[in-house]
Amino acid sequence: MITHHTEVLVAGLGPVGATAALSLARRGIAVTAIEPLASSATDLRASTYHAPTLEILDDLGAAGTLFGQGLKAPVYQYRDRQSGDVFEFDLTEIADRTRFPYRIQCEQHRVTASIVEQVQGEPSATVLQGQRVLFVEQDEEGVTAYVESANAVERWRARHLLATDGASSVVRKVLGLQFPGFTYDDRFVCFSTEHPIEEAFDNLSHVNYISDPKEWMVVLRVPGMWRVLVPAPAGFSDAQLVSEDYKNGVFGRMLGRDCDVATRHRTIYRVHQRVCERFAVGRILLAGDAVHLNSPMGGFGMNSGVHDAINACDKLVQVLRHGADAAQQTALYERQRQTITRDFVQAQTIESTRLMRDGWASARAERADALGRLMKDRAARRAYLLKQAMFTSLEQAAAIQ
Ligand SMILES: Cc1cc2nc3c(=O)[nH]c(=O)nc-3n(C[C@H](O)[C@H](O)[C@H](O)COP(=O)(O)OP(=O)(O)OC[C@H]3O[C@@H](n4cnc5c(N)ncnc54)[C@H](O)[C@@H]3O)c2cc1C
Repeated sequence: MITHHTEVLVAGLGPVGATAALSLARRGIAVTAIEPLASSATDLRASTYHAPTLEILDDLGAAGTLFGQGLKAPVYQYRDRQSGDVFEFDLTEIADRTRFPYRIQCEQHRVTASIVEQVQGEPSATVLQGQRVLFVEQDEEGVTAYVESANAVERWRARHLLATDGASSVVRKVLGLQFPGFTYDDRFVCFSTEHPIEEAFDNLSHVNYISDPKEWMVVLRVPGMWRVLVPAPAGFSDAQLVSEDYKNGVFGRMLGRDCDVATRHRTIYRVHQRVCERFAVGRILLAGDAVHLNSPMGGFGMNSGVHDAINACDKLVQVLRHGADAAQQTALYERQRQTITRDFVQAQTIESTRLMRDGWASARAERADALGRLMKDRAARRAYLLKQAMFTSLEQAAAIQ
C-alpha cells in the first residue's frame, strides 16, 4: 500500500474543516484535506454568521463571499404572533466591540465552496475530493489514516489529524467515543421560498423568531430567498409534512390568507443535543458537528464549529512551529472548547428551544417578561447582545487554562 506524508490531515471539508485547512495552510503548515463529496453539500443548513466568525474569516481573507453575497442583519426580532409584540435587538449597540456589528445571512455551502477554492490555491495544501477516511490509528510519532478513493485505499501519515467529518464522524466512531445527549421527539420542517413574505409584516427584519402558542417559527432571509422553520406536528408522516396541503397551511397561517406559495426546498430535520466525551485523543483533535450537535435556535452550530477549528489550529501551530508540548496543547484545546460547548452552546440552545416549544402559555409570559426587562436595561441588553453574538463564550474559552 502506498504511504503519503503530510503534517496535518483534515478529515472533512464542511465549513469547519475548510476553515481549519485554510488557517493551517495560510500559516505554512503542510495540510492534506480529504472530502468524499466533489463539491459542498447544498442542503439548507446554517445561514447565520455571527460577528466573531466574520472576524475570523475576514482575518483569514476568506470573507469575500459573505460580504459580496450575504445580507447584513444588524437587527434581529422576537415577535409574538398572538399579541403582536415585537422585541428588537440591534447589534450596532456593540459597535465598539466589533468591526462587524451585525450578523451576515448567507447559506453555508456558498461560503464553504469559496473557502475550499482558496485552500486549493495554497501551496502547502492538498485537497483530495472524492475520497474518504475509512480508518485511523496513531502512535507516539503521528497518525495514520486509511483513505479510500475510486481506485484504491492508500495510507496517509501525519503528525496530527483534525476530524471535521460531521455528525456521523467515522473518526469519532473508530476512536470508540461516546456521544451522549438526546434527540427531540418532534421534527422540524424547513421551507425556502422566493415569495415576498416581508410584505405581510410590518418592518420584518432578516432574522426573526416568531412565537405562537400553536406554531412558532424561525423566519430567516438569505440571498434571494426566505427560509421558514416550523415544528412538525406530532403524528404527521414525512409525506404529509412536505405535501402541498401542509405547506399551504403553514404559509396561510403565517400570511393570514389562503395562498399557494411556491417553495424551493421542503426539508425535514431531526434535532439533537449531544456533546462528545472527548474533543482530543492523543494526536487526533475533533471539531464541529463531529463532537457537538444542537438545535438551530440562535445559529450556534456551525459558528461554534468554526471557533473550534481556529482554536485547534492555533494549538497545532504552537506545536508544529513553536515547539510547544503536543499533549498539553491538545488537552488545552479540549478543556476550552468542550467546556464552552457544554456551558454555553448546549445550555443556551436547550433553553431557547424550551422557550419556543414547551408549556407555551407560561414559557411565553416568561419570555415576554425577560425580553421586556432587556428592552429597558441598556447594560443588561449589551451583555445579552455580546452573549448571543458569541463574544462572551470566546472570552470564557480563552480564560480557561
Ligand atoms: C436546518 C439547520 C439550520 C442550521 N442553521 C445554522 C445557523 O444558522 N448557524 C449555525 O452556526 N449553524 C446552523 N446549523 C448547523 C450547521 O449546519 C452545522 O453545525 C455545520 O454544518 C457543521 O459543520 P461541520 O463542518 O462540522 O460538519 P458538516 O457540515 O457536516 O461537514 C462534514 C464534512 O465531512 C465530510 N465527511 C463525512 N464523512 C467523511 C469521511 N469518512 N472522511 C472525510 N470526510 C468525511 C462530509 O462530506 C462533509 O463535507 C444548522 C443546521 C440545520 C440542520
